[in-house]
Amino acid sequence: MSRRTFKGGVHPPEHKDKTKDLAIESVFPFTKTVVIPVTQGGAPNQPLVKVGDTVARGQKIAASDAFMSVPVHASIAGVVKKIEPRAVTGNIDALCITIVGDDSGTTAFMPPLDPFACSREEALARVRDAGIAGMGGASFPAHVKLSPPKGKTIEYVIANAAECEPYLTIDERTIAEQAEKVIDGLAIAMRIVSAPKGIIVLEDNKASLVPGLREAVSKSGHNNITIEVCKTKYPQGGEKILTLAVLGREIPSGGLPADIGCVIQNVGTLRAVSEAFREGKPLIERGLTLSGGACETPKNISVPIGTLVGDLIPERVTLRPGVAQIISGGPMMGIAMANANFPIQKNTSGVLFLTRAETVLVNESPCIGCGFCMRACSCHLSPVLIMRALNGGNYDEARRCGLMDCIECGSCAYVCPARIKLVQRFRVGKQLSREELRKKQELAEKCAAVQSSATGKGTAEQNSASD
Ligand code: SF4
Ligand code: SF4
Repeated sequence: MSRRTFKGGVHPPEHKDKTKDLAIESVFPFTKTVVIPVTQGGAPNQPLVKVGDTVARGQKIAASDAFMSVPVHASIAGVVKKIEPRAVTGNIDALCITIVGDDSGTTAFMPPLDPFACSREEALARVRDAGIAGMGGASFPAHVKLSPPKGKTIEYVIANAAECEPYLTIDERTIAEQAEKVIDGLAIAMRIVSAPKGIIVLEDNKASLVPGLREAVSKSGHNNITIEVCKTKYPQGGEKILTLAVLGREIPSGGLPADIGCVIQNVGTLRAVSEAFREGKPLIERGLTLSGGACETPKNISVPIGTLVGDLIPERVTLRPGVAQIISGGPMMGIAMANANFPIQKNTSGVLFLTRAETVLVNESPCIGCGFCMRACSCHLSPVLIMRALNGGNYDEARRCGLMDCIECGSCAYVCPARIKLVQRFRVGKQLSREELRKKQELAEKCAAVQSSATGKGTAEQNSASD
């Protein structure tokens, strides 16, 4: 079996042993309160319900007309109690709909739809109506990924099961327990974009899944789906890294996977695509990994979207004293949260309860110019030079050094002996850079308008003088 890989990257301790063999535990039926962010990927949604409304499980509760948006649905049956801003991942306040569960068990799923008999437009509408957004972390609307720009030919749909973040094992368990649904979702995605080939990509720390997966592919009859195994290295799961390692194709700067003939979807997302067609089920629940050194009962668990992490403690997960940090996501790209009072969203692949020994809570020291960060960067950027440009407020230089190509994987920060928070700087730097470009554009437009009005006036005066 070949082992594909890429240049750069890092090998953080995996910490997957605690949960990789544990079956996904289900919390259903679930009658507690859920807090569902109105927007979870894409353009902002507007609530479709009001306080006091009774809602069924699977009912659409927020949506937008914008193409780049996905609706959200009630993940439990109950009554809408509040619509207000609440703290969500990222420690920002976002508009959320609070539903208090009842015991009615009412559901409002869509009718099943044959993905291979309906039109491509109907299939895309189904993916969107099901509210499917990327479950690997990015939360990008799935129907948008499945609508490549005109003129782009898609050769491959890649099912991303690399799951390179330490601790997280939910994709691994999804493959182990629901391979048929993942393969079905992949075949549906291939049909939608007319891709002749599908590839399921895993890292070699999950090689034990390959025989079962091969058998499931063979049983499915989709002989155009193959399995590729990559060497375990972070950040293998990044789209740019994955296509380079598996196909030897590089996504151009500022480009999309479609530019190199690919569409990439996380395996959880593909499972949701299958359920949207076969069961008419919107994306209202997800599996995630609960782990970390301060977690006494690490596990993989399936919960309704909007479940508050705090509501799982201590009933479903027990913590040890000494939680130094709570992370939404993995330790490399996840977000440190102020407390456990935040909802699980469509893109929450894990929640980690870390001890002090597992966290990097030490203070930064000055850069020593060691260059470790440059060697670790799988995107071949110069993190230290980007940082220096940003420190000097020189966004042109930061962009020239590749700021906008940074995938925020955190490999550079991981190896930095000065413990400089490079990724945080790059995230903020990108926002400020975009703002700077926007202002430059506005200024250029104003100048052009003034110039054109002056030219017009001059011409008018000249015309009047010559009359
Ligand atoms: S510069 Fe960006 S892409 Fe490169 S290692 Fe750092 S975070 Fe990753
Ligand atoms: S790894 Fe850290 S200390 Fe070394 S050059 Fe990069 S930013 Fe500076």
